[in-house]
Amino acid sequence: MSDEHVITRDIYCIGCGYNLRNLDPSGACPECGMPIERSLQTSILRFASPDWLRNIRRGFNLVIFIFVMNLLLGVAVGVSAGGGAPVVGGSFFAASNVIGLISQLVYIWAIFLITAPDPRQSVTESPRSWRRLTRMFILAGFACFAAGLLAQEFASMIAFMAIGVVANLIQLGLIFCGLSYLQTLAERVPDPKLAKNTATMKWAIMIMMVLLVVFAVVFLVMAGVGLGGFGAAPGAAPPAGGGGPGPAAGAVVAGVSCFVGVLGFAVFILGIVLFFRYRSAIGRALKEAESYDTGHPPVAPLT
Ligand SMILES: [Zn+2]
Repeated sequence: MSDEHVITRDIYCIGCGYNLRNLDPSGACPECGMPIERSLQTSILRFASPDWLRNIRRGFNLVIFIFVMNLLLGVAVGVSAGGGAPVVGGSFFAASNVIGLISQLVYIWAIFLITAPDPRQSVTESPRSWRRLTRMFILAGFACFAAGLLAQEFASMIAFMAIGVVANLIQLGLIFCGLSYLQTLAERVPDPKLAKNTATMKWAIMIMMVLLVVFAVVFLVMAGVGLGGFGAAPGAAPPAGGGGPGPAAGAVVAGVSCFVGVLGFAVFILGIVLFFRYRSAIGRALKEAESYDTGHPPVAPLT
């Protein structure tokens, strides 16, 4: 029985969940008859567990929901602010904190669904995979968010701003690792075009955020560290006409803010489009994976 062509790990049949350990990989599952080779395909998504794919698609649904809600909320706040409605008040901030907290929690849930571990890769996955890093960053981001709320209540403006800087760095890490993970998912569909577009998006955001930081640092230095109107919440849009140090500097800030705002909005919309494409790519893989479940494996060759 010491045949080297035998599965030596716990690998479960994607058809019925039977443990294929000690079986010949060229054979078929003794329970459901599915070729064992299929269960050894640990990368291609259409051979994956339908439950796992369903969770990922659920996660994309949630993320799309949150993004669209944020978009509508942003438009609503923008319209009411533009109309001169007095939205600034204690109750408004309290309400926005509660909404922010809820949407953060739903967002974390969504990311955890999308980054659920593939049961087939539980043994082979690196401890520093994009998937795991994405989860670490989203949890660190939430810790920062909570610390920001506390600082806002109890601590100084400086502490709040320091947390804001850390939060933005975490956000950068989250976007980088998250999009890198999505890229691996796209490659596993396989959908090379989606993977390529994701990579482009990733680098565009990185370059944009680095330029933004460079601008902020240069501006703060040139303005002689006029911290006046820059206590905005981490990740929030630049305050509209927030009292800058001088009129000329204010104009520069307004111009750059406007530019960044338009650019950020474009990236936001492209992000929603990207998530929709992932949702349908995962949906396609899920449909095929489900067809294996019902015992009608397609005749497409394994490559
Ligand atoms: Zn089976």
